[in-house]
Amino acid sequence: MSDLMSLQQLAQLQKNFMKRKILINLEQTKYKVIEEAVQLLEWKVTPSEIECHIFWKDTYVTDEEYRRLLPYQRINHFPGSYMLGKKNELCRNLNRMRKMFPEDYDFFPRTWQLPYQSEEVRQKQGTGIFIVKPEANCQGRGIFLTKKLDPFLDKHYVVQEYLCNPYLIDGLKFDLRIYVLLKSIYPLKVFMYQEGLARFSTKKYVKPQKKNLGSVTMHLTNYAINKRSKDFVFNNDTNKDDVGHKRSFTSVLKYLQDQGHDIKQLLNQIKQVIVKTIQSVQGELSHLYRSQQHNNDGIEQCFELFGFDILLDSSLKPWLLEVNHTPSFSTDTPLDKIIKRNLIMDTLILLDVKNKPKKIYLEQKRAPVYQRPMKMSQEEKEKQSSKMSLIEDKHLNGYIKIYPDENKDYYEQFMPPKPKERDSLINQQLDQVKNLEKTLKIQVEVKPPKLKPAKRLSTNQSFTELEGQSLQQLTGRNTVIPQTRTTSQQRPFSSITAINRPISAIRKTVFPNQHQNLNTSQNQKRLVYPPPSELPPKPIYKMIPIKTFSFQKIENNQKNE
Ligand code: ADP
Repeated sequence: MSDLMSLQQLAQLQKNFMKRKILINLEQTKYKVIEEAVQLLEWKVTPSEIECHIFWKDTYVTDEEYRRLLPYQRINHFPGSYMLGKKNELCRNLNRMRKMFPEDYDFFPRTWQLPYQSEEVRQKQGTGIFIVKPEANCQGRGIFLTKKLDPFLDKHYVVQEYLCNPYLIDGLKFDLRIYVLLKSIYPLKVFMYQEGLARFSTKKYVKPQKKNLGSVTMHLTNYAINKRSKDFVFNNDTNKDDVGHKRSFTSVLKYLQDQGHDIKQLLNQIKQVIVKTIQSVQGELSHLYRSQQHNNDGIEQCFELFGFDILLDSSLKPWLLEVNHTPSFSTDTPLDKIIKRNLIMDTLILLDVKNKPKKIYLEQKRAPVYQRPMKMSQEEKEKQSSKMSLIEDKHLNGYIKIYPDENKDYYEQFMPPKPKERDSLINQQLDQVKNLEKTLKIQVEVKPPKLKPAKRLSTNQSFTELEGQSLQQLTGRNTVIPQTRTTSQQRPFSSITAINRPISAIRKTVFPNQHQNLNTSQNQKRLVYPPPSELPPKPIYKMIPIKTFSFQKIENNQKNE
């Protein structure tokens, strides 16, 4: 868009810039509370796509929208954030991480994607109760509990183990809505808002039995479902945030503390759930973000306010149910309003939006000869980053920084490789794959031989029976057995999957047995020359006596017989 800007637009931009207001474009959001927060900050709402410093929209950002951002502009989504926000994508990403780190990623109920994992789901059938969710719905729409999964195996659903033992307050099931700001994806910066919501179901909880599986107001805690119940109690007094079926997160924490539970430990566990979930997509998200980022002195152009839904079980273990990329900002009760308005104000303050980058941009635009902005040196970048951290610490208000924090070293193992390290691993891996291919690549003869009539053979004689005789003897020419690659020998690693893999996982993939050491010649040997047990099975050949003698490869020995 920068290149398309007319002189008139530029003049207007210049004129408004003198007012030095921070401008926000709210054309694509329906939530009034955002405008209220903006007004309280004395910022200004603008319909202009050029003048605004920030875009706030309710849906995902498209690649095109991201590309069109001017260097000083920001938007409230990351390209690719559906990888967390869509149930099937979240399932895929967390399952992948769980395979590599089974103990650390054990905070997501066992989940499968239908129809792709129908075989696994079929095997699970009969082991308990499952909650079945449409891939792309929200607010509890289309969700149901079932024991039988057969009827849904070929449909597009996400199937999850139902957590039967939730922690109950007043006999009611509830879940927590925790707000999380992803302020930067590379380097990763994650903040958790200290206030949030607890949504209660309206019917007393009874363990799932055949006759109560259909009771949505008992098993689902969605506000959209329970507010329709005659039993729903709205909270009308912000001073009493522990009343009704939608309460504040802190009131629940206080309740738990009063019951003698260790709140600090619970909060630590919740923080870990959040950071590890974001880490599961950090590679892909930062790749998408960086591939199109402006050279703009390190302005973080995307941020995202996620709603994490967390259920506590009876032992107070937090389980991640889902991540909302556009959490609802509707404000039906005064409590809702105060929490969400403060949340948005604190988010905007933490972004630390300044007019200076716009000024620099305008100066560059007005210069008689366009000057390409200088790239920052590494030293300058580090200086700027530590300056930014100090500013963030000052502007936290209701937020706490949860990444990086004192657990940074622990999280390191789940990080995708840094771009340089990733490239060298990819190259190393590709070299190994090439070597493997060279070893396995053997020319296949397809034409029937013209020379020497061969010895007549019986139709039922198989190739194995003829092993005692050389091929040359039989055919009159050199023939080589074709080798096919089995799935287990397909490329163990691709550059695309590499983007999102933690470094330790890549090592595991490359060297399944000895992943600690990347360079031992033993490992190299293992990859290049797989032991005989790992070679693909020999295809079975059958000799068919026809006018001109030929070989016919039979994929499945039984098939053609
Ligand atoms: P939606 O996006 O439609 O709200 P969720 O995955 O959040 O879908 O599920 C809706 C509700 O169902 C949750 O708020 C929670 O009360 C309940 N729920 C979801 N998954 C589980 C589960 N695995 N075990 C127990 N309850 C669950």
